[in-house]
Amino acid sequence: MKVISILGSTGSIGTQTLNIVREYKEEFRVDALAAYSNIDLLEAQVREFKPKIAAIGDASQYKELKRRVGGLTYVAADREGVVEAATAESCDTVVSAIVGIAGLIPTYNAIKTGKNIALANKETLVTAGRIITEEIKKNNVKMIPVDSEHSAIFQCLAKGKQNEVSKIILTASGGPFRNRTLKELENVTVQDALKHPNWSMGRKITIDSATLMNKGLEVIEARWLFDIMPESIEVCVHPQSIIHSAVEFVDGAVIAQLGLPDMKIPIQYALTYPERLPTNGEKLNLTAIGDLTFYEPDMKKFKCLKLAFRALSMGDSACVVLNGANEEAVKLFLSGKISFLAIGDLIEKTLDKHKIISNMSIDEVSALDLWSRKTLTNLYELGCIK
Ligand code: NDP
Ligand code: MG
Repeated sequence: MKVISILGSTGSIGTQTLNIVREYKEEFRVDALAAYSNIDLLEAQVREFKPKIAAIGDASQYKELKRRVGGLTYVAADREGVVEAATAESCDTVVSAIVGIAGLIPTYNAIKTGKNIALANKETLVTAGRIITEEIKKNNVKMIPVDSEHSAIFQCLAKGKQNEVSKIILTASGGPFRNRTLKELENVTVQDALKHPNWSMGRKITIDSATLMNKGLEVIEARWLFDIMPESIEVCVHPQSIIHSAVEFVDGAVIAQLGLPDMKIPIQYALTYPERLPTNGEKLNLTAIGDLTFYEPDMKKFKCLKLAFRALSMGDSACVVLNGANEEAVKLFLSGKISFLAIGDLIEKTLDKHKIISNMSIDEVSALDLWSRKTLTNLYELGCIK
């Protein structure tokens, strides 16, 4: 039996992970849960799954959560509390599904205490890929991707050796604005951007999918997860989201992984790896789908993807800035303060102001993240970009 800790248990990935635990009671036990502020759902999860620890990131909710479930479990709060959930002694596997860089320190500490990681929180690798991959080696733990594209690549890579890989083909749905012109993007609303054609996800990643920053973050995630150079990663728009990604080997053979767009499959695989468990879910019927189409991403229209490649070529610290600036810009967009296209413009201006820092420590990553947020906020307040 795997004993798991779920960081971000109240989110899209967290709740889908708990559905799997519910389905396979013999295989998994949940000993730790962590969320930010949704104590109603966290309370219900504690009552159902009876973890040994429940952590709430928002310290102002601690007393109330403790009042509700303090008799059932140990309640922890604030960043330290979330780290306690990430490092809970009885857990062997941590599902890292907090959104944003808030997931970095808990995941880093989980690795340091020898936990295997099922990684959904791509921001961990985007901001600290070098540090995290070193810690994974040092602590001899596994990091299995949950992100559907990376789960696909992970499965395809098993069909050859690392030195036989010539290219990774990362597919992208293209998001809700795939067919809009740049001019039309000037006036899209938050509601438009939140309507993803194929996937139902948390708000931040849904906006990232509309700007294609999500794909940019995934390129950086792939660079670290699979130790592959950015030149060998190709992004291909595939609106049906059936081919989740592919790997080209040196002999020209391309291995792809296909499936319906359903996160249950990659989450479950990350939990059961190297085994597979049967499911009763809907299965892929290729003839019912009919056409699969592919085309190049438009980097002029989707500047954020171009900025992610630029950050990768600048250096590790630029990826921290890209990520922090993006988190802040998405917040501004979601609160109706800036336009859709301003997201990319503000991130670009923030990157322009960054001077590369080499060999960063984990504390320097956190400090630079704050710098990038402050810089973007200042740029917004100056009012040069609307
Ligand atoms: P959601 O917004 O749905 O959920 C985020 C979760 O993180 C919630 O449980 C939230 O708690 C918790 N959280 C946020 N901030 C903190 C914090 N400071 N401390 C503790 N917990 C916190 O996001 P998703 O589930 O969609 O995404 C999670 C991660 O997985 C992201 O990195 C995303 O890129 C990645 N991912 C998601 C996919 C998807 O299909 N959703 C697909 C591939 C990757 P609360 O509810 O209390 O706010
Ligand atoms: Mg993905």
